[in-house]
Amino acid sequence: MFKLPKCPHCGESYTSAEVKENLRNKTFKCKSCKKPIANKRFAGRLILIPIAIVLVAGIDCLLFALLQENGTVPSVIVTFVLLLGEFFLQPYVCKYEKIDDDEK
Ligand SMILES: [Zn+2]
Repeated sequence: MFKLPKCPHCGESYTSAEVKENLRNKTFKCKSCKKPIANKRFAGRLILIPIAIVLVAGIDCLLFALLQENGTVPSVIVTFVLLLGEFFLQPYVCKYEKIDDDEK
């Protein structure tokens, strides 16, 4: 699941920086074979976001139970770090799919 996507046409691999660059586009052309690719960027996020929310809620509850009124700052940090983590994992959960083009 946590793998960088590859071109479905030629198998060209992409770096996480390139995948992030492509996140803005629903479709783009392969850097190697120039064939159109559909960017299914939310395929994996549908799983990733609930996991992040559950983790944040769970850890925050734990911190408040352990630290009581002193738990605010650590829980804000934990929330921030996890959201940041989710952001950086984005390239690893998107999927590239073939677009059937009619142009020959
Ligand atoms: Zn390609």
